[in-house]
Amino acid sequence: MSAKQTFAEVFEARGVNRRDFLKFFGLTSVSLGLSPSLFPKVVRAMETKPRTPVIWMHGLECTCCSESFIRSAHPITKDIILNMISLDYDEVLSAAAGHQLEEVRKQIMKDYKGKYILAVEGNAATKDDGVYCMSAGDSFLNKLQETAADAAAIIAWGSCASFGCVQNADPNPTGAAPVSEVVSGKPIINVPGCPPIAEVMTGVITHVHTFGEIPELDRLGRPKAFYGTRIHDKCYRRPFFDAGMFVENFDEDSASKGWCLYKMGCKGPTTYNSCSKIEWNEKTSFPIGSGHPCIGCSEPNFWDNGPFYTRMAEVPFLGTDSNADTIGKIAVGAAAAGAAAHAVGTIIKQKVTPSKQEEKES
Ligand code: SF4
Ligand code: SF4
Repeated sequence: MSAKQTFAEVFEARGVNRRDFLKFFGLTSVSLGLSPSLFPKVVRAMETKPRTPVIWMHGLECTCCSESFIRSAHPITKDIILNMISLDYDEVLSAAAGHQLEEVRKQIMKDYKGKYILAVEGNAATKDDGVYCMSAGDSFLNKLQETAADAAAIIAWGSCASFGCVQNADPNPTGAAPVSEVVSGKPIINVPGCPPIAEVMTGVITHVHTFGEIPELDRLGRPKAFYGTRIHDKCYRRPFFDAGMFVENFDEDSASKGWCLYKMGCKGPTTYNSCSKIEWNEKTSFPIGSGHPCIGCSEPNFWDNGPFYTRMAEVPFLGTDSNADTIGKIAVGAAAAGAAAHAVGTIIKQKVTPSKQEEKES
């Protein structure tokens, strides 16, 4: 299929009726926090704009982000990854591999120079010339930097690509580094989570496609629409937290009664994500709903942030209006917060930052 087809044409060819089409993008618009007046703009973009060419690369990772997306319960979400975007390069989903597939990547880069979205799942091994993550005789690090150079924007899927995740945890034997540490000069949207929620991934693509710009980001590069509130702020166990009613042991009655999991190590009070709002698998549940504390998987360095089942020493009691930027202001001071204010709502071509590797070299 050509990247010149519109989303609506592909939907029609796939037998998705207009009612389902409108319903899906209505829900996506709401989850993006768009005002109802912008809904026709989203639908118009889907009906008229050519599909967005996407190169989807895989570094050091477990493929859980792809799994999250393609296992989504919503049929149209699955259609988006497989048909709505022009996904011509994906090492996991393509039949071709190795040198054959690398030719495809180079052709897309040539045909859509400066126009394609680079989606990255996983991170780059930087030690020993990147030898710990190779395909077709080349390192993922090289291929990532080469492909990023002509991309319109980069989406870093999951905590691996956004912040490093388990590969980057101490002692990090392969020198695993997230996208922002090895790529510079390009806007990067971090969509962390282990994995991220399918509807969040769809929402980010929809926003970029509709408006031709990256969504408003927080100081960690995450879309505010999905990472603007803490798990704790919308958690259905919050009344138990406020009442001081805590689970102290997974085997006791309080656990089956749904009391607060804070003393079991829950990181919900310091974790920004949409799990307690959107939930998973068409609102079937989310980890806390299944009786397990949040382990803070959408925050940087969550593997090194203390044992999962040990209660946090301190909880930032900043109220439900607090967000990652508010806490950032307290943590890093007004100067850094001022810089963050300039980083939001930036048009794709304007948001460029030096990589940490470059900063070290300068
Ligand atoms: S501490 Fe965890 S379980 Fe308790 S209310 Fe907050 S997010 Fe929910
Ligand atoms: S509840 Fe917490 S640990 Fe679980 S998926 Fe959501 S952010 Fe990650």
